[in-house]
Amino acid sequence: MNEESGYLKARREMVENQIRRRGITDEKVLQAMLKVPRHLFVLESWRELAYSDEPLPIGEGQTISQPYIVAYMTAALNLQSDEKVLEIGTGSGYQTAILAEIVAEVYTVELIPELSRRAQAVLQELGYTKIHFRIGDGTLGWPEYAPYDAILVAAAPASVPVPLVEQLKVGGRMIIPVGVDFQELVLVTRKKKGWDEKRLIGVRFVPLITVH
Ligand code: SAH
Repeated sequence: MNEESGYLKARREMVENQIRRRGITDEKVLQAMLKVPRHLFVLESWRELAYSDEPLPIGEGQTISQPYIVAYMTAALNLQSDEKVLEIGTGSGYQTAILAEIVAEVYTVELIPELSRRAQAVLQELGYTKIHFRIGDGTLGWPEYAPYDAILVAAAPASVPVPLVEQLKVGGRMIIPVGVDFQELVLVTRKKKGWDEKRLIGVRFVPLITVH
C-alpha cells in the first residue's frame, strides 16, 4: 500500500469511528473531513498521528483541534454552500480548509504570523482560492468584510466578544469556546436586538489572546 492510500484509509476510519459514530450526520461536514488531507497540516514529526482521536501540536505552543471537535463545531453552524464565514485562529489552516470545502468564502484571522504564513502556503499548494487571510487580533473580527453568515472561533475568551457578535448578520450563528479554567462551546445566534446563547459541550482550547 502506498503512502497516499494509507492516509485515505486512515481518513475513512477517522470519519466512521470518530465522527459519524459519535452522531455527526451533516453530509457536507463528513465529505469535507473525508477529503481534506489532515496529515499535511500537522508538523512533519507528528504525521503518523494526524488521524488519531486527539489534538496535536502545530508549533508556537498552539494545537490543531481533535478531528471530532472540528466536525462538531462545523456541523453546529449548519452551513450552506452560498455562505460567507469568518474564522478566528487560523492555526494550521486545517479547519479553514474544512470550511472552504463547504461555503462560498472564508475569511480567517491569525495572531501569530508564522502560523498564518505556513497555513497560507499549505492551502495555496492544495489549490484553495476562496480563503482570505489576515494576520492580527481576531477578537476584533474583520469588520471590512462583515456581516458574516457564521463565525467559528478556535481559541477561548473569558466571555463572548461583542465585536464578533456585531459582525454577524441577523440570524447568523457563531460557535465559540468560552471560559477560563473550564470551557464550554457556545452557539450564539444574532437577533435583531442582542443575541441568544446555547451552551453545548465541555471542551479544552488554547486561550484567545487579547492584545489591545
Ligand atoms: N483551527 C486551528 C486550531 C487553532 S488553535 C487548526 O485547525 O489548526 C487556536 C489558534 O488561535 C492559534 O493558532 C492561536 O495563535 C490563535 N489565536 C489566539 N489568540 C488569537 C487572537 N486574538 N486572534 C487571532 N488568533 C488567535
